[in-house]
Amino acid sequence: MIPYGRQDIDQSDIDAVIDVLKSDFLTQGPKVPLFEKTLADYCQVKHAVAVNSATSALHIACLALGLTEGDWLWTTPNTFVASANCGLYCGAQVDFVDIDPQTYNLSVEALQAKLEIAECEGRLPKIVIPVHFAGQSCDMKAIQQLAIQYGFKIIEDASHAIGGRYLNKPIGNCVFSDITVFSFHPVKIITTAEGGMAVTNDLSVAKKMERLRSHGITRDTECMNSESHGPWYYQQIELGFNYRMTDMQAALGCSQMQKLDGYIQQRQRLCKQYNELLNDLPVILPVQYADSYSALHLYPIQISNNAKKLQRKFIFNQLRKAGIGVNVHYIPVHLQPFYQQLGFKENDFPNALEYYQRALSLPMYSTLSDKQQLEVVSALKNILL
Ligand SMILES: *Cc1c(COP(=O)(O)O)cnc(C)c1O
Repeated sequence: MIPYGRQDIDQSDIDAVIDVLKSDFLTQGPKVPLFEKTLADYCQVKHAVAVNSATSALHIACLALGLTEGDWLWTTPNTFVASANCGLYCGAQVDFVDIDPQTYNLSVEALQAKLEIAECEGRLPKIVIPVHFAGQSCDMKAIQQLAIQYGFKIIEDASHAIGGRYLNKPIGNCVFSDITVFSFHPVKIITTAEGGMAVTNDLSVAKKMERLRSHGITRDTECMNSESHGPWYYQQIELGFNYRMTDMQAALGCSQMQKLDGYIQQRQRLCKQYNELLNDLPVILPVQYADSYSALHLYPIQISNNAKKLQRKFIFNQLRKAGIGVNVHYIPVHLQPFYQQLGFKENDFPNALEYYQRALSLPMYSTLSDKQQLEVVSALKNILL
């Protein structure tokens, strides 16, 4: 089976992890700060906080920006559930903004229209989470303009997008947002097995996220409410969690960072080839804008009206039978039973629903060979033509 995505682990990655296993620190050693510095430098951002998943990063990012009961968090329905769940963890309410039918990213026009209504109703969001779907940045400049106008904070969910660029600058530089979050799950661009990172240019937000990652504990005497008892002393000054990344994971992350640009080049090359190879098929290909360089986590096509009137489900099943591990990204979050119970209706976000009904993610990962890619294309041709 050719999967839709997979990690690339070579000998240098294995050696990096083994070195940590033979060292004094399996966790809370030197590798986590090194990984944070490596990633922050790459992204041209001041501060980075490594955690055990992007889900944890989203949670502490929301807390650090003060999200709490009575607040609203908005995100796109075309995402993994974690982008919305983080709001509920904080006791806030969650709502969605429909997607742009070209990029499948959160639509700026829909956001603006919804903000106008929310302002009248006195329920503006405290945080908006744009998700850089498939690795292509959202229109961050326009979203930031709206954030200034309506007074909300922005967390970029860049789980798909490390190594991508927007307006010729690395995604994650936080020029247009308060915090950016990355995921290092094995299907993503680089991996630490499980793992995530939150980056920001705001020192106080970074310090708060660092505390929340480790129980709300500080060793900084400036943050304490009384004299230190001695060198061993720490204080818990708020309620935090154990969301720490291990040194084994961070060492793997550092090693993977060395190969990041090469990974994206491979994905870009495969994307160009798909675009050419699939050009004459009755499918809608993903659009890439000139001002963005996508990290290409996914290659999502849409099954458009084809002569044989084949449905997406049939095509999905045929491809799986042919050994092609296609997938669907995403089941709109508001269709999940848990969110339906909160009152969302199927037709609340028609663009996301329509896209979902036709979407199909083809295999896309850095080690997908040209031969395998041709296998994917000919399997699709056999079904559709
Ligand atoms: C994978 C993913 C997450 C969650 O990442 P984890 O590291 O598995 O917690 C969140 N948002 C999006 C858009 C994702 O793709």
